[in-house]
Amino acid sequence: MKAPLLDLTAQYKKIKDDILKATLEVYESQRFILGPKVEELEQGIAQYCRCKYGVGVSSGTDALLISLMAAGIGPGDEVVTTPYTFFATVGSILRVGAVPVFADIEKDTYNMDPQSLKGRITKRTKAIIPVHLFGQCCDMAPILELARKHDLVVIEDAAQAIGAEYKGQRAGSMGDLGCFSFFPSKNLGAFGDGGMVTTSSDSLCEKLKIMRVHGSSPKYYHKLLGGNFRLDALQAAIVLVKLPCLDGWTTSRQANARRYCELFADKGLDEIIRMPAEKDGRHIYNQFIISVPDQRDELREMLHEAGIGTEIYYPVPMHMQPCFEGVYGKKGDFPIAEHAADKTLALPIYPELTDEQQAYVVEKIRAFYA
Ligand SMILES: *Cc1c(COP(=O)(O)O)cnc(C)c1O
Repeated sequence: MKAPLLDLTAQYKKIKDDILKATLEVYESQRFILGPKVEELEQGIAQYCRCKYGVGVSSGTDALLISLMAAGIGPGDEVVTTPYTFFATVGSILRVGAVPVFADIEKDTYNMDPQSLKGRITKRTKAIIPVHLFGQCCDMAPILELARKHDLVVIEDAAQAIGAEYKGQRAGSMGDLGCFSFFPSKNLGAFGDGGMVTTSSDSLCEKLKIMRVHGSSPKYYHKLLGGNFRLDALQAAIVLVKLPCLDGWTTSRQANARRYCELFADKGLDEIIRMPAEKDGRHIYNQFIISVPDQRDELREMLHEAGIGTEIYYPVPMHMQPCFEGVYGKKGDFPIAEHAADKTLALPIYPELTDEQQAYVVEKIRAFYA
């Protein structure tokens, strides 16, 4: 028995014919950059995320970068985000010359704590980037309330949360801009890099569309500074094939999450291992994250030897990353994020994971703590 963290070949086998047909169409058209496939995907994602517009871009990272640029964030501005995220969130803030300011996370969801956010807003704050980590939305009501009060732009990092809901609203539709990634390991993955920005603002949409082609409008007349942030037609064609499958895959991920909780409870393991907290709303389980009391790294090693794939998201909080040399915080500043970095472990949760594989994973963990 084996249980990889993610097995994309299982998914590919089921949709292979449609993928080949869709990519062949792109080859025959010889239109590779933007074009009708990208437009079709933009409409599909906008509708799925219940936003007015989708703007296809080159990656989730570039979705964040172009969003900050379109929102006019730059040198001297502060952007509040979470220290417990993928590096892209913070890297993008610094790449526009702004300063990342961190707010600690909630213990149970690992998402930005609105209470901590409140204390981090200053006169220089211009934007907030809440990250809907692991597939569950942040507690957006108080975040949006603070944004309104202080006139801040809200850019949702929804790279892990396509289709997630908070109080009936979809990830990417609550802030001014929503950023999505089609990196292969996300719930809706391309066969390479790709991303999307969602917005319901006419003016932001127009700016994003100009900025992703080096700010040119019309062609060769550059009215803004942008970059090459274009999505290519092959990736769009592939994601378009996958989009109608997404809700079914999400249902399977949710069923796997429930099954883990039952299996852990059956073995009495829920006393020592913390299951993910599922708040009201729709959790799409991009990752299934447990928190273990001790010996996390030894457990991981043992699972690896048993053919079970796991990952640590993320072992080093952003304020402690070596490239920042302590400029944006030091050890001890964000204790909940630091604790999470030491204790959490991602288990396999992909839709095609079988009951037998899940039982095997849980049995191995039981044996470790026995
Ligand atoms: C994956 C991810 C990104 C970056 O997306 P890419 O497409 O890999 O550039 C940004 N933020 C979060 C939270 C992510 O998980």
